[in-house]
Amino acid sequence: MPQFLFQDIIPEVRLHRDALLSEYTTMRTGGPADYLIEPASSEEIIAVYQRALENDLPVFIMGNGSNLLFSDEGFPGVILRLGKAFSSISIEHDLISCQAGAMLSAVSRVAADHAFTGLEFASGIPGSVGGAIYMNAGAYGGEISQTLQQAELLIDGRIEIWNKDQMQFSYRHSAMMEQDGIVLSAQFFLSPGSKEAIVETMRDLNERRRAKQPLQYPSCGSFFKRPAGFFAGALIEQSGLKGYSVGGAQVSQQHAGFIINKGGATSKDVFDLMRHVQKTVFEKTGVTLEPEVKLIGSFPK
Ligand code: FAD
Repeated sequence: MPQFLFQDIIPEVRLHRDALLSEYTTMRTGGPADYLIEPASSEEIIAVYQRALENDLPVFIMGNGSNLLFSDEGFPGVILRLGKAFSSISIEHDLISCQAGAMLSAVSRVAADHAFTGLEFASGIPGSVGGAIYMNAGAYGGEISQTLQQAELLIDGRIEIWNKDQMQFSYRHSAMMEQDGIVLSAQFFLSPGSKEAIVETMRDLNERRRAKQPLQYPSCGSFFKRPAGFFAGALIEQSGLKGYSVGGAQVSQQHAGFIINKGGATSKDVFDLMRHVQKTVFEKTGVTLEPEVKLIGSFPK
C-alpha cells in the first residue's frame, strides 16, 4: 500500500496505517485495516473518498463500531471513521443539528440540557448519529425514525438532503442500507419538556440497561434482530444456550441476546458461536435468527 496516499489530505494524527480494528470496535475483535482515517470535515470525507476510488481501494464507513464484526483478516482498504473529529452539536429553536460522528449519548444530553424531549431512549445506545440513522437504532419504545427531521447525505459524490420519509425507516432498517451513501449530518425535531422529567427518564432507562445487560464485557449489544412475535434472547435461553462458549466468545449468562467477548475472542469465535446459536434455535424452535450486527470482511457464506 502506498505510504503517502492520503498524507496531503489528512494530518498524521487522524491517519492510521494498518490500524487494528479490534481497537475501534466495541466487540474488541477484528484484524487490521490498510488505512483508518478520522475526517474532520465534509471536504475531507469527499477528498478521501475520491482518492480511494482513484486507487481502487474499497471504503467502509464506520461510526463508533458498536454494531460491527470485522473479520480477523481485517479490511483491505480505507475505513472512514466518523467520530470525535466530526461531532459538533448545535441547537436552534426546536431543532438539534449534529455532525454524523456525534455520539447519541452526547446529543441526548444536549437535548436534556435544553429541556427538549424525544431523545431520552437514545442516551444509552453507544452509537454515533450516522450509525444510528443507518441502523434506525431504537430502545425502550423509541426509535431514531420518530425524531429525525432530515439528514445530509453524500451519495455518488453529491450532497443531498433527505427527509424522514425518504429514509424509509422500518425495524432496524433504513434506505441507507440500499445506498452507497454517507450520512454527514442530521437534524432532529424535538418537543419542549420538563428538564427534570427528561433527566429522570434517562437515568431510569440507563439503570434498567445496567441491570439487564452485561455492560462489563465487550459486545455489540443484542446480536440478533427481534424475530416477529418473539424475543431473540428468550429463544436462545429456551434453547439451553445461556453461557455457551466458542473460544473467548460466549452467550451472556446475564442476557442471552448478547454475545460477549469474555477475553481473547476472535471474530471467528464470535461468528462460529453465532452460527451455532442460529442452528440450535432453529432446530429447537423453528425460528430463524438474523444477525442485527453487520459482518464485514471474509466470513464463510
Ligand atoms: P457502527 O457500528 O460503526 O456501524 C453500523 C453500520 O452503520 C455500518 O453498516 C456502517 O457502515 C453504518 N454507518 C455508520 N456511520 C455511518 C454514516 N455516517 N453514514 C452511513 N453509514 C454509516 N442498538 C439499538 O438499536 N438499540 C440499543 O438499545 C442498543 N444497545 C446497545 C448496547 C450495547 C452495549 C452495544 C455495544 C450496542 C448496542 N446497540 C444498540 C447497537 C449499536 O450501538 C447501534 O446499532 C448503533 O446505532 C450503531 O452505531 P455506530 O456508530 O456504532 O455504528
